[in-house]
Amino acid sequence: FEVLAREDPEIADVVIGELHRLRSGLQLIASENLTSPAVLAALGSTLSNKYAEGYPGHRYYGGCEQVDVAEELAVARARALFGAEHANVQPHSGASANLAAYAAFCQPNDVVLAMDLKQGGHLTHGSKVNFSGKWFAPVSYGVREDTELIDYDHLRDLALHHQPRMIIAGATAYPRLIDFAAFREIADEVGAVLVVDAAHFIGLVAGKAIPSPVPYADVVTLTTHKVLRGPRGGMILCREEHAKAIDKAVFPFSQGGPLMHAVAAKAVALKEAASTEFQTYAARVVANAGALATGLEAEGMRPVSGGTDTHLALLDLRGAGVTGAEAERRCDLARITLNKNAIPFDPQPPMTASGIRIGSPCVTTVGMTEADMGEIAKLIGRAVRAEPGTGAGDAELAEVADAVGRLVAAHQAYPEG
Ligand code: PLP
Repeated sequence: FEVLAREDPEIADVVIGELHRLRSGLQLIASENLTSPAVLAALGSTLSNKYAEGYPGHRYYGGCEQVDVAEELAVARARALFGAEHANVQPHSGASANLAAYAAFCQPNDVVLAMDLKQGGHLTHGSKVNFSGKWFAPVSYGVREDTELIDYDHLRDLALHHQPRMIIAGATAYPRLIDFAAFREIADEVGAVLVVDAAHFIGLVAGKAIPSPVPYADVVTLTTHKVLRGPRGGMILCREEHAKAIDKAVFPFSQGGPLMHAVAAKAVALKEAASTEFQTYAARVVANAGALATGLEAEGMRPVSGGTDTHLALLDLRGAGVTGAEAERRCDLARITLNKNAIPFDPQPPMTASGIRIGSPCVTTVGMTEADMGEIAKLIGRAVRAEPGTGAGDAELAEVADAVGRLVAAHQAYPEG
């Protein structure tokens, strides 16, 4: 870091500023985490320099003997951790992994059945502004209005009617377990490929806190930077029969040279995720999310679907009298970072939204417990009720920010220095 500070003080200031932001506030974005110093060391290594198009043993460049070892370790660790027949560790991101899954199985205009974006699906599940909606023919399933759980009967009806080439299970804002067996049955009934987009929850699978999609899916796409706590990146697990199609869909179809520093960092994260400490962490992530949801319910925010089985909860704020956007703004002012989020059947547009999404990975990584979650819920409640711009509201937000400062001081993300 001293070299960076000397060579480029402006960027060094950004790095320090971000570290300060992390250390001085509560991080509750469900898709974020605080990766280990070992992962950061691999990311900041000279492996970033190396071109390695191709796969270990079959590269288009010389000098790949070291990066081959890194990729082989990452692949072997991914296969062992998830019990997968094949792993591709090269996708640059979750969106790249999903693009490769489409490329491996679909032709332009093929029907793909995936979760409605307004009910928790991801951009790559058929958004009109994304390749998935522009180049393919998306059909969306969603949740039942009464239970706010995936409507498997409707999903099956849609599959029978539209005969999709591919069905995607997985979401970005669904707090409950997904019934992978039900998805498999429906996919088999209509002869569709089943892709599970496990980007959000794969870390809980790695830590054995929730059931694995691997035995059910043809392909599992994932991100390595969420609950899994690795570097920013993507990965694909699949059955051996799909290995060639997936590998070709990643390189050369949709990517060039892999980011070998990121591949090495994925290997480090996978080693960490195979430890018993990681299993303890994963169980705590789920317990903490549950405690947060319960605490927020007591503050007048309704947990969508009644609670959570995972690392995230979605809160309906209509009873609290604020929109998701306003709650996000007020929490920001109190040094609590979370995001506004549409709730199922949301009457508000997405940029306003009636809900917020909170996640427990970061606060669990820094060692906070269920008791701390109770305290955090109360602080969120106070921040959301405080009206900025009024004397009383500003004073309350300042007090909450101070309380946040005291809470996080005892649970620091990265050691001083
Ligand atoms: N799939 C799901 C379900 C996600 O939630 C996300 C990101 O939040 C992605 C894919 C895309 O991941 P990335 O942002 O790494 O492209």
